[in-house]
Formats: sequence, C-alpha cells, structure tokens
Amino acid sequence: MTTPLSSREKKVVELAREARDELVDLVAELVALDTTARMVDDDPPRDEVRLQQSLATRLRGIGAEVDLWEPEPTGRGNRFVPDDLDFKGRPQLAARLAGSGGGRSLLLNGHIDAVTPGPREDWATDPFKAVLKDGQLWGRGVNDMKGGLASLLIALEALHRAGVTLRGDIVYCANTDEESSGAGSLACVQHGVRADAGICGEPTGFDAWVCCRGAVVPIITVEGRAGHAEMPQPHWSEGGAVNAIEKAKIVLGAIETLRGEWRGRPDKNHWCLAPADIVPTIIQGGVWTVTYPPRCSITCEIQYLPANVDSEGTAKAVQAEITDWINAAANADPWLREHPLHWQWMADIVPAEIPADHPLVRTVLDSAADLGRTGKVSGLDSWHDAAHFTRWGHTPTLSFGPAGIESAHASDEHVSVDSLVDHCAAVALAAMRWCGV
Ligand SMILES: [Zn+2]
Repeated sequence: MTTPLSSREKKVVELAREARDELVDLVAELVALDTTARMVDDDPPRDEVRLQQSLATRLRGIGAEVDLWEPEPTGRGNRFVPDDLDFKGRPQLAARLAGSGGGRSLLLNGHIDAVTPGPREDWATDPFKAVLKDGQLWGRGVNDMKGGLASLLIALEALHRAGVTLRGDIVYCANTDEESSGAGSLACVQHGVRADAGICGEPTGFDAWVCCRGAVVPIITVEGRAGHAEMPQPHWSEGGAVNAIEKAKIVLGAIETLRGEWRGRPDKNHWCLAPADIVPTIIQGGVWTVTYPPRCSITCEIQYLPANVDSEGTAKAVQAEITDWINAAANADPWLREHPLHWQWMADIVPAEIPADHPLVRTVLDSAADLGRTGKVSGLDSWHDAAHFTRWGHTPTLSFGPAGIESAHASDEHVSVDSLVDHCAAVALAAMRWCGV
C-alpha cells in the first residue's frame, strides 16, 4: 500500500532525483579505483585507501565524524577469519552523523571490494571505466556494490541539502573483504560499529533480504599407498599399493547420501533460502601416470542455514555431523579404518536472519513502494555482510538495494541508473521514517 509523501519527504525525494548525475559520477569514480577482492590472503592492496579517503571527504562535507582505520591483523585460532589476515592498506570506514536525539539509529553499509573482472576480452567495455549506455551503467562493481554504496551516500547528501535533521544517528560504514572472507565487516563490528538496525545496499532489486546461508569448507584427505601401477599388487595387508582415488569414492558416496538425507529434513530447509547443501568442488590426487595415487583430497563447499548455527554461534555442530557421517562410512572399509581420513576446515562464515516482520523491513519496503518500486521479503542464498552486523554487532541488518544482481560477478556487469536513483531516494525516505525528523 502506498502512502502520500509529506512535503518534506517530497523535497528530499526531489533532491535525491536531482542528484542523478552526481550519483553516476560517484559510481564511476569508485569503479575507476581498483579494489579487486583478494584472491589469496596476502594479495597486496590496490586503491582501497584512495577510495575510502574519497568517501571520507564527502562524508565530512555533510558534517559526519569519520573514523578511518586499519584493523589489527587477525591471529591464528580465530575460526571466523583466515589465519594472519593483514589489513595493511585496506582501511575500514565508519562515519557518524549525529542525530538531534530521541530517534532510532540506522547503519548504512556497503563493501568496497569487487570480484576480479576476469579477462578483458570478455568485456565489451573497460571494466574499470564506467560507461553509461541505454540507461545502464556498465563496469566492474556497479551493482555489487559500488552503485549501492554510492546511492547510500548520495541519500545522506540529499537529506543534508534538504536541511533535514534526523533524530537518530546515521552510521555509514564502508568495509573491505566481503567477497573474500567477511573479515572486513567483522573488523568493523569488533571496532564497535553498531546501530539500532541496518541497511546493507546489496543489489536486492528493492526486496528486503532478511537472511542468508553460511559457509564452511572442509578439505578431506584420503590416504592410499604408492606403488607401480603396471605391476600386480599384493593385498595392502601384505604391503601392496592402495589407490587413494578409488578410496575417495567412499567419501563421495557418503556425501551424496548425506545430501539426500538433508533434503528431507526440516532443519535443513528454509522458507525462502535454498536448502543446506554439501557440494564437492575440488578434487586433487595422483603424482604420476604409472603410480598408484598415495593421496586424494576433496574440498567441499558446505552451505548451512541460520537454524543450523549451534549454541556457540558456530558451524561446529554441522561439522561434527558431517565428520561423523563420513568417518562412519570410511570405517566400514578395512584400509580406511586403519588409515583414517584427515580433515582440515577453512574459516567458518556464519549466517544470520532477522525476523521477517522486523519494523525496518516494513519501513524500507513501504518507502520503495511509495516511489513505485514494489519489493518483497526474501533472502540471499549466498552469504553477505548483513550477517556479521546482525549476529556479532547486535544490529539487525537487512539488505536493500537496486536491481541487477543477475550481472553481479559476471562480465559486462551493469545497473540501471533509474534503479540506482530510486534506491537513493528510497533510502533517504527510509532514514527519515526510521530515525525520525
Ligand atoms: Zn556484494
């Protein structure tokens, strides 16, 4: 249901729409700064400092108090981030626009990293040079999510120009490392970034994403025994070779049966997310064409649901279930019983969910609907930063942004400028309605 805008709201929407060219220019400026996500943990930084400084300058221009800092490196033993991850040259930004008091505070968040554009020849235009064509802006990160990051900022500038003083504080936060590990938003939460609720400007197509799945990745190594592959081998108990690739079939079979079991279980299914799943993604084994492979390792991508998070707020219960199931299958094999599987787990990216009837959900959906953009309550099957703010920052955070996720991570990524402008106006409206004026 749409409601008529108040005259003050009309003014803000008008100013947001008038800022169309500025919005396009800002997205282009952000796209030109290379903040490609790290592929390996020690990838050197690129233009992160310049990008954050440029956001900081604009935020200071509307009276925000800006905090720009490089988090301490993460240490070993933190299950939620890669070991020894360094933030040198990758500052995080948190800015506060103090309200007049008595209103609810609002976090506006976006990540500054974008996935690699891949080969240049896969693109019709230079991925680091935003091009405006047919009402669409093209370039790496325009919708995931330098577009949303820019429209959140221009929304604040529109409020400032309209002379609107919000009652609650606005916290604008731009972080790194969403695409790689989630370590940036976690560092922001650990730094104290909080609000009564939050909006992450991911490209939701004006939906409100209230949940996502989490991820945890095991590398399961199957042991064999090397030997000449052209020579008949005695039984392994008499010193014969064992083919680790063939033994890996036992692990793959156990994964397949567990996936089937999960499909029928209520706790592995969700009203708006894809079911929990285990997908084998990498297999490595073998050393020589004429040698029995002495080892074979299988990497899996495990997607788990908010309901599967254990009482400690981790995937440990999910891990135990998977380990027990696969080890049991391995134990039925005499060789593997004597040569147990070796398990290594990568960082645990924990999912989160906010209630579908959280008041901010209504606020953003109504604000968008009042501008002719009808969205619904939904979720994203893949993890995103809203989960860290929700789970660890005690800031119930949804994602709400422009259209275009279909081209996220793809070549020729694009976003509709109309959609960006409407997102900007809707966020300005939502901020007024949430924080109070
Ligand atoms: Zn994103």
